Amino acid sequence: METRSVAIDGPSGAGKSTLARMAARRLGIIYADTGALYRSVGLYALRRGISSRDARGVAALLPEIEIEMSYDDTGCQRTHLRGEDVTDEIRAPEASLYASDVSAIPDVRAFLLQTQRDMAARRDVIMDGRDIGTVVLPNAGVKVFLTARPEIRARRRCDELTAAGRDVTYEDVLRDINKRDTNDSSRAAAPLRVAADAIVFDTSELDLEESFSGLLDIINERLYGENDAAV
Ligand code: C5P
Repeated sequence: METRSVAIDGPSGAGKSTLARMAARRLGIIYADTGALYRSVGLYALRRGISSRDARGVAALLPEIEIEMSYDDTGCQRTHLRGEDVTDEIRAPEASLYASDVSAIPDVRAFLLQTQRDMAARRDVIMDGRDIGTVVLPNAGVKVFLTARPEIRARRRCDELTAAGRDVTYEDVLRDINKRDTNDSSRAAAPLRVAADAIVFDTSELDLEESFSGLLDIINERLYGENDAAV
């Protein structure tokens, strides 16, 4: 049976994972978080003491890396690196920067491409990342480019990390976001860009509920040909 997919791309902290998770629950489909794959590769390099900028060193680690995704009853994804549940550890700021660096390495992108396509081939998914609409799932039923101004994204990410008990400052998070924006947009391999057939959705002036409702409208209209939020 052919599966249907929704591709959500955009910069760090745009709310992709929060909104995609909410939409997946509403639609009764799986939320596939591809950032977790890059974070797992980054975490493995970090643990092995290989610099995230050392393309050769990181590429040499790839044959040792085995990443498995599992989904709990609520459709939440858990990430397993060589059998170990690293779902929480890959969220640490250091793992984020490592992920951003290793994601620029073409061997890493090639290594993870099939994993991502397999995730979407097995079931209906809403998949988020940086190149889902442009590279991973060029035939996705709906493509959304979710964005917001850097200061707004930094504030949201800072609140999220603080709520999770992490000791971070707004200035640090903003610096981090700007650095990752530059990395993600300027890299040669699959840079972050808007797919020609994507809908750009800027949530800078919207709260979470408004953003969610706007996203559902887009999905309904594109995927189901409905104008009202029927799901
Ligand atoms: O989305 P998330 O912040 O978890 O992604 C971590 C890093 O992985 C990002 O900074 C981005 O560079 C990279 N990434 C990517 N392509 C994807 C998903 C994430 O390059 N499809």
